[in-house]
Amino acid sequence: MTTIAFIGLGNMGNPMASNLVKAGHTVVGFDLMAENLATARENGVTIAQDAISAVGDADVVVTMLPAGKHVVAVYGEIAPAAKPGTLFIDSSTIDVESARKAHAVAAEHGHVSVDAPVSGGTGGAAAGTLTFMCGGAEDAFTRAEPILQPMAGRIVHCGGDGAGQAAKICNNMILGISMIGVAEAFVLGEKLGLSHQALFDVASTSSGQCWSLTTYCPVPGPVPTSPANNSYKPGFAAALMLKDLKLAQEAAQGAGAATPLGAEAAQLYGLFNAQGGGGTDFSGIVEFLRGKTG
Ligand code: NAD
Repeated sequence: MTTIAFIGLGNMGNPMASNLVKAGHTVVGFDLMAENLATARENGVTIAQDAISAVGDADVVVTMLPAGKHVVAVYGEIAPAAKPGTLFIDSSTIDVESARKAHAVAAEHGHVSVDAPVSGGTGGAAAGTLTFMCGGAEDAFTRAEPILQPMAGRIVHCGGDGAGQAAKICNNMILGISMIGVAEAFVLGEKLGLSHQALFDVASTSSGQCWSLTTYCPVPGPVPTSPANNSYKPGFAAALMLKDLKLAQEAAQGAGAATPLGAEAAQLYGLFNAQGGGGTDFSGIVEFLRGKTG
């Protein structure tokens, strides 16, 4: 079995590391927060005193950190300390430019690397059913695949360095836009005297069908497992949706792509966050839209 260093043991990192332990790997973890380290220890992770000592004996390093600046800083610290030829996997959601920078830092020190952001949230992390979107060279991906397996429902090789992050932000831009579309339709339906169930029954079997409607329905009732039935507890917090929509906008500006609906979605989630919605599920945007109606 493999020795894996796991840096970043938060809401996602801890259950992911736990699944690696259950698969029989030796996992050595580090995080800046004592309570996250305590949870990791309970899950069978060996705790290191810092990131550098976590990677000393590792064959593989997995990072699950908040943003690009954290990933680039941590790679700068640990890449020189790891054994040459170590496989680096970054599963954080970060901007494409920082992802490519992290690949370059790893390569400089003789390592191979994969950017492997995920979809599926904390539920998928706990269940080991995350979708991994991977970017990197073929040999790096081939090495990463069996390591990702115990945490994954699906693993897709999207292309070269940064392609995983590109796929992630494109997917989440679709998600943000489609959630707003579905929420607007329910708010309009309410004004027109249409019941939530009637609109759901029609749209879920018609051309309006999409994941934001059929799996994550933003009004309570039609899909009992959606966060709307649980006071909009995340799930996937609106603050994280805003983060991903901003990453998509940054990427679109850098690449010269027209994404007017993506820009509008980023603006609406920005307002929702500014009004205190950041900690609620992103489907709670329906309440924000309802509040705006006259
Ligand atoms: P989180 O804030 O719970 O966890 C991040 C952890 O990184 C924290 O525990 C923090 O202490 C730690 N950290 C920060 N800097 C560090 C450093 N220098 N060294 C060691 N540890 C450090 O966030 P999360 O929800 O676990 O998300 C992690 C990543 O996964 C983010 O990039 C997020 O966008 C992405 N993501 C989250 C979800 C979700 O539903 N939560 C879904 C998909 C993707």
